[in-house]
Amino acid sequence: MRRLAVSILLTALLLSGCGAQMSPDEAQESIQVLAMDTAMLITTYGERSPAAAYACEDAIRDLEKQLSRTDPDSEVSRLNASAGEPVEVGEDLGVLLELAKYYHGSTGGAFNIAVAPVVSAWGFTEDSFQVPSQAELDGLLELVQGPSYIGPRSSGGTICYSLGPGQAIDLGGIAKGYAADKIVKVLQEHDVPRANINLGGNVLAYGDRPDGTPWRVGIQDPARADEQNAFAGVLALTDSFAVTSGGYQRYFEEGGKRYHHIIDPSTGYPADSGLTSVTVVAGLGGGDGFPGTMCDAYSTALFIMGEEQALAFWRDETQRGEQGCPFELVLVTEDGRVVVTPSLADRFTLEETSGYTLEVVPS
Ligand code: ADP
Ligand code: MG
Repeated sequence: MRRLAVSILLTALLLSGCGAQMSPDEAQESIQVLAMDTAMLITTYGERSPAAAYACEDAIRDLEKQLSRTDPDSEVSRLNASAGEPVEVGEDLGVLLELAKYYHGSTGGAFNIAVAPVVSAWGFTEDSFQVPSQAELDGLLELVQGPSYIGPRSSGGTICYSLGPGQAIDLGGIAKGYAADKIVKVLQEHDVPRANINLGGNVLAYGDRPDGTPWRVGIQDPARADEQNAFAGVLALTDSFAVTSGGYQRYFEEGGKRYHHIIDPSTGYPADSGLTSVTVVAGLGGGDGFPGTMCDAYSTALFIMGEEQALAFWRDETQRGEQGCPFELVLVTEDGRVVVTPSLADRFTLEETSGYTLEVVPS
């Protein structure tokens, strides 16, 4: 329910457009999709908007079928149940496994899809929340930190991967970003001039608004996650992804303590880095062809890293990138600051009533 509220809130802002003049004769289709444990809102524009919106839904449902951990027939479930045997994977899962391997390396291990057994031990897979014992976590961490999955191996014209016994993968940290990348292709195929796609914290601002101004994407205030229209600030974006990870998106409380769903693979505990949310922003041309997936992986990983490490990571990537910076950041800190990287300074407006102080990272 919490996720639903946040999603609808963001979407309301996108659609209301903060006073935008909507072109009266531009066709528009808006559909809500409940998939990947998330309330999603797909809004497409132009002559082919209904067909495009439903094709986006089909793409999401198709991916969910392949990637769900709770559907025993999904490819991911078959791989997780394979007890060391090689399993044939389709193109999407194959691409995701390779991307996840890359992000694991680039983030120094913070992003790790092999964290699945630990996510389950906390009850986040089946909504049966509990605090695991240290002994249990110690045992599971050996599986998480041990050798990764093996593949791709070609066998009789098919691609196979295998996991070590007891290992499992969880694509919850990138599946929606990858879905958003696929949606871009669907929108292009349908010649959609503009769209806004909200996959619950993963926003795709495609094209611009009907009046030619950028889409406005609200960044939820993590301290007021249950309140309507409680934003830390608003981003003005065109042809971009903005993906937010935060401990407020999914959590339970026990003994007066809050435990959320983003796990630090070095401890097995929910990350406690001083950040309350991380938003990663990238243009449609970035991320080596998978900008949405990259934003999703990095928002999860940088939330675990904390401010100092996240900014060092951003700086390294800025210097490495050949075509300028591949991504920008909005960090919300526990001590009441919103930290934005310099290129976002003129695209981010702090919500005055939020009480946060805005800091722009020196270039
Ligand atoms: P959300 O799915 O709420 O938008 P994230 O993209 O940050 O948020 O993904 C969190 C999900 O990723 C968790 O629910 C879990 O399935 C998975 N996950 C948790 N910790 C990690 C991690 N360290 N690396 C990769 N995936 C993780
Ligand atoms: Mg993520």
